[in-house]
Amino acid sequence: MSEWIPVEGLRIAIDGPSGSGKGTIATMVGKALGLVVMDTGLLYRFLGWRVNDLGIDLNDEPAVVAAVDSAVAEMDWRAEGIFFENRDCTPLLRGEDVGAYASKVAAISAIRKQLLELQRKIAASGCVMDGRDIGTVVLPDAEAKFFLTASHRERARRRWVQLQQSDAEVTLDQIVDDLKARDARDSGRDCSPLERAKDAIEIDSTTMRIDEVVDRILAVLERRRLIS
Ligand code: C5P
Repeated sequence: MSEWIPVEGLRIAIDGPSGSGKGTIATMVGKALGLVVMDTGLLYRFLGWRVNDLGIDLNDEPAVVAAVDSAVAEMDWRAEGIFFENRDCTPLLRGEDVGAYASKVAAISAIRKQLLELQRKIAASGCVMDGRDIGTVVLPDAEAKFFLTASHRERARRRWVQLQQSDAEVTLDQIVDDLKARDARDSGRDCSPLERAKDAIEIDSTTMRIDEVVDRILAVLERRRLIS
């Protein structure tokens, strides 16, 4: 049983850069409200991983676009993760290398368009969706939008702690470099760059605990009578 009752079809958009905490926070908000959670970064991660696995050069845009067509058909999004060939391949998608492949694939507008319909379909009956362009492009009419930030150093530190559980080889300096490159690509691209929607509430979580951020989001939703 969830603690709160959301209004019917409530769609909550949570955007922010890598390491801003949006994935963890979206999961906790979704759990508190009994809503489906969709981590849209996983879609781009799957496509980047699959295209790379097929031996295609990620800088060869026409080849990437052609490969993504069949990759989208092979991919099965479920609330538990992304399934490929009947296996949950989500654990394979979490590494920094796959994040870099994802941000290359994500900069191609034809690919973003292809994922729009899928994302909107999943959101239609209510959800918490996290990503980079949810409040601006995917769900511009979402009932509630949040934009999470944190200092560069703090975001890198969080990523590093997370990766210690899987990818012990990576150093904090490598993560700082990777974050900078990914931020530049995600914010500087022409199509759907990472930016705050005008009507999104910005929360800087640098010095906040996760539960404090979640409480702040729930308080906003309650104040707006989107949950009771
Ligand atoms: O959030 P995560 O780090 O898993 O996302 C991986 C990459 O996918 C991001 O760096 C970004 O380039 C891309 N992405 C995107 N739009 C989204 C979600 C992720 O461009 N809605």
